[in-house]
Amino acid sequence: MTNNLQEQSLQLASIIKGSKRLVALTGAGISVPSGIPDFRSATGLYRMENGGAFSAEFMLSHTCFCRYPEEFFRFYRQKMLYPDAKPNVAHRWLARLEAAGILSAIVTQNIDGLHTAAGSRNVIEFHGSVHRNYCTACGARYGLDFILTTDGIARCPQCGGIVRPDVVLYEEALDDGVVRRSVDAVASADTLLVIGTSLIVYPAAGLIEYFGGRNLVLINKGETAFDRKARLVINADVASVAEILNEKFK
Ligand code: NAD
Repeated sequence: MTNNLQEQSLQLASIIKGSKRLVALTGAGISVPSGIPDFRSATGLYRMENGGAFSAEFMLSHTCFCRYPEEFFRFYRQKMLYPDAKPNVAHRWLARLEAAGILSAIVTQNIDGLHTAAGSRNVIEFHGSVHRNYCTACGARYGLDFILTTDGIARCPQCGGIVRPDVVLYEEALDDGVVRRSVDAVASADTLLVIGTSLIVYPAAGLIEYFGGRNLVLINKGETAFDRKARLVINADVASVAEILNEKFK
């Protein structure tokens, strides 16, 4: 571990200590140490062979879901569901910060439910969750197990309608209430901790524009277009940073 990472982590600890309202904005990178691939890293989903004629981006689009539901469900079950993944040290670190009354909210782009599994309570799921599914015909609700234990197009046992994940696919609109709560959380923060996101997917990346606080902190393995605006940028594995900070605040 480099001294630089130690120093930056201590700098972060001091920023967190001086914060009155700390909010986290997280992306796929925070779940990579749990074994869930992100989209845009070298080992991310967009670089993987998906065994089909379409790109990963198309497979996760509204058009694909409507026109090729069979293909959609094949890809979705194979590449988006990680039922055995467990929260890692970074998820637990954020849960601890909330329990200690330091962190007010997490706005996450992730759909894996790992923040909640780690014990975080105020989690705003910007893109929905794989744990919630609903029938597009009768509205009946189902958990993740239903999708995992069915084959092909998931059909509602009550009415035969297609059961879809409550996640925002490409081309789909976001839920107004979720956007409002996310904007409010970011706008009310004096410190915004942005973790594991390439900040390429809009409108999620645009949430940063609502931040008017003093401390924008980015923890990300790769560079982002917002690095210049940040008070602190830590280009490292978030699990290493969380380990240092957990150790310090035992
Ligand atoms: P992205 O793939 O575009 O970017 C992930 C970023 O995380 C990259 O910049 C990468 O450098 C960084 N990263 C990877 N491992 C890291 C680590 N250990 N520590 C620190 N940083 C690390 O993901 P995105 O910006 O979140 O956008 C992709 C969209 O797809 C989002 O909506 C996202 O939630 C969704 N998605 C979700 C999951 C999930 O729920 N776990 C997984 C893949 C994609």
